Amino acid sequence: MKQYIKINECRLCKSNNLKEILNLGRSPIGNDLLKKNDLKRKINKFPLAVNQCKKCGHHQLSVSINNSILYKKNYTYLTGTSEVFKKYLKDYSIQICDKLNLNKNDLVIDIGCNDGTLLEYFKKYKKCKVLGIDPSKKPTELAKSRQINVLNDFFTFQLSMKIKKKKLFPKLITSHNTFAHVEDLNDFFRGIDNICYKNTTVVIEIGYWLKVVQNNWYDTIYHEHHDFHSLYPLLQFFKKYSFNIIDFKITEPQGGSLMLILKKMNNFKIYKKIKKQVDIEKNIGLYKIPFYKKIKNNLQKSKDKINILLNNYHKNNKIICAYGSPTKSVTLLSYIKLNKNIIKNIYEDNILKCKLYNPYMKIPIIHSSNILNDNPDVILILSWNFAKSIIKKVKKKYDKKIIFVVPLPEPYIIQ
Ligand SMILES: [Zn+2]
Repeated sequence: MKQYIKINECRLCKSNNLKEILNLGRSPIGNDLLKKNDLKRKINKFPLAVNQCKKCGHHQLSVSINNSILYKKNYTYLTGTSEVFKKYLKDYSIQICDKLNLNKNDLVIDIGCNDGTLLEYFKKYKKCKVLGIDPSKKPTELAKSRQINVLNDFFTFQLSMKIKKKKLFPKLITSHNTFAHVEDLNDFFRGIDNICYKNTTVVIEIGYWLKVVQNNWYDTIYHEHHDFHSLYPLLQFFKKYSFNIIDFKITEPQGGSLMLILKKMNNFKIYKKIKKQVDIEKNIGLYKIPFYKKIKNNLQKSKDKINILLNNYHKNNKIICAYGSPTKSVTLLSYIKLNKNIIKNIYEDNILKCKLYNPYMKIPIIHSSNILNDNPDVILILSWNFAKSIIKKVKKKYDKKIIFVVPLPEPYIIQ
């Protein structure tokens, strides 16, 4: 079995005219948190580089890791862990229910439903019928315990046939942050197309590549994310399936995401609002190679700065710990390449991740209630998109003056 393969064609348009625009070196798999008995084994590192399709402008990873390696561990991400994200999903459910006038008999399908947090809001707010689809084990067990119907499987065209046979007609198909994890995007979208009927609205939320490069969020580049999406390539992709992007929104909680509202229509149309955003992407240089020279420089500066900062604390005998163990933390730690392991522990709120180890430098992950015993002087916030709420939480529980280091978009400290 090959551990990974090079991706030689564009995942959206199939062109083989690909050019490398960023290279972060090699990194372990972000979701591969280690158990205690894994500590002796050698940790594999895989190439982490981004290619651009010269035909449609799509950005994607240069390699694809074998799924049995990529997802061999229990998937530990839980939507319901973050209060900020829960509120975001609740607000979204209310807005979209009102916008589409959803009511009691309408079916909402959530592809990548995780622990059912979002679908539960649809049930509570408008008593919608709900169906979740997700291949993960532990999160969907939680969803089922919330009385949510779950198909515990990957969403594919084949699975869509099963749904169609059951004569289920969704008024809304919603999918948040799953698109970049999908193995075969064309098959996935053929599946969505297959279960749409004339009144179905499709909402897809994805990480926005424009925001990644504008804000230096290089840590969102990891092996579980096959693609980095933007409007222009997707416009062409959805056209193949006669879907129009009728609206979009740039959303905040996962960093910077793009929420697309799609509808199947007979005529292809580029709406004014969409055209304006595509022009922004083009004018900034998103589809041109020289633009990425500047981005590479920014990354290097950011890397140097955080190394100097943390090494100085270490030299002054400060106890350095970190907070949060999202998948992206592995990219961040691998890329900044501290010259030795100066991080004592990583704190987590998600109990599924506690007592495991980060694959980069095998740093222990422990529950955040241990901060008191640990007595850290410095906390590096790896879940930097939740920095505000994390700092507030730690300060509330703990009197000591801790220095918080937020690594991105530019390393900075909060005392
Ligand atoms: Zn392409």
